[in-house]
Amino acid sequence: MTKTYGFDTLQVHAGARPDPATGARQVPIYQTTAYVFRDAEHAAALFNLQEVGYIYSRLTNPTVAALQERIATLEGGVGAVCCSSGHAAQIMALFPLMAPGRNVVASNRLYGGTITQFSQTIKRFGWSAKFVDMDDLEAVKAAVDDDTRAIFCETIANPGGYVTDLRAIADIADAAQIPLVVDNTTATPYLCRPFEHGASLVVHSTTKYLTGNGTVTGGCVVDSGNFDWTASGKFPSLSEPEPAYHGLKFHETFGALAYTFHGIAIGLRDLGMTMNPQAAHYTLMGIETLSLRMERHVANAQKIANWLENDPRIDFVTYPGLDSSPYKDRAATYCPKGAGALFTFAVKGGYGACVKLVDSLELFSHVANLGDARSLIIHSASTTHRQLTEEQQRKAGAAPEVVRVSIGIEDADDLIADLDQALTKATA
Ligand SMILES: *Cc1c(COP(=O)(O)O)cnc(C)c1O
Repeated sequence: MTKTYGFDTLQVHAGARPDPATGARQVPIYQTTAYVFRDAEHAAALFNLQEVGYIYSRLTNPTVAALQERIATLEGGVGAVCCSSGHAAQIMALFPLMAPGRNVVASNRLYGGTITQFSQTIKRFGWSAKFVDMDDLEAVKAAVDDDTRAIFCETIANPGGYVTDLRAIADIADAAQIPLVVDNTTATPYLCRPFEHGASLVVHSTTKYLTGNGTVTGGCVVDSGNFDWTASGKFPSLSEPEPAYHGLKFHETFGALAYTFHGIAIGLRDLGMTMNPQAAHYTLMGIETLSLRMERHVANAQKIANWLENDPRIDFVTYPGLDSSPYKDRAATYCPKGAGALFTFAVKGGYGACVKLVDSLELFSHVANLGDARSLIIHSASTTHRQLTEEQQRKAGAAPEVVRVSIGIEDADDLIADLDQALTKATA
């Protein structure tokens, strides 16, 4: 598939060809664990990575491969590795870069689950994370030390309307000869393509907008193919003989595809965080309508954010598409088609009013998820951020008087009517 087609064409066609065995037009679900080798020589060539093909579905599977090619194409990358969840993708993204004693410099405004994964769980691998405010470029520079192997941020940060200055952070990563890894889950490649702003790697929770209907969990690591893994000597697993693959030098052997091959041949082989073909099928189907859904998501979010901001029962709204947002200009630069569909708003009446609001809504679902076709709401202070002190909740954008919404693709007027009736009950 050439990259000269437009986004709408690529989201339907990239990675998919009529099935060579049957002519099936839709990508079949290859529900198989293993693949028969043509002969012993073929098997040996596959295991030596001299020939690309299918061995065992922990490593590669044709349905998953179609999805990998589609996401890589939409992001403008050279390759991608799909994983069992977004959190698996984050570990898989860091795995080729890190070693005991190494660290990642991460934004302090990340998805809550990522903060926990990076601040606690990765310590078991001997890795660590340093959290910084990505608006304080001097602090980002100061946090990068000789052991830093990546900078990690989100395009549009969950929960509250923050847009990262990707170019400024990419420049810091470049100067330190380390990759910028961007979690592009909440923007999707339709609204923002981080590689065009200097990122080297992108990760996704495909669970969210890419699948788009709250059916399967999945993740993806996408490689721009632009990073020089050899220049700094900081990435021996990619530049030096890799003992986990009988001394293969990935960068020398695979060039721009080194990181992707490493992700499959070592990451999936040994960590086993593989996406299953059923999940890949659902996500392929979802991506076919990505641009259409995102257009509706952002139009609805803009309309609802405007309405809320002008409602006397609301204190403030954090949508970066609003003139009142400090990130309005940045959103226009990085997400010119729309500032996503995820934001928070503060209800007059505080904690009690928020709980009542959530319980009074009829169309909005009270769930811990985002990026669904359905509109979703959560009161973080009484759920996902419950264990934190009030000060920590405020820092995380999850103050007691704040609720987070993920605006769906329903009729905006129906969503506004639902918010209106629930706000009346909540603030009575
Ligand atoms: C949901 C999410 C994740 C984690 O993805 P899972 O598929 O739930 O593992 C990571 N980053 C962001 C921004 C998310 O929204």
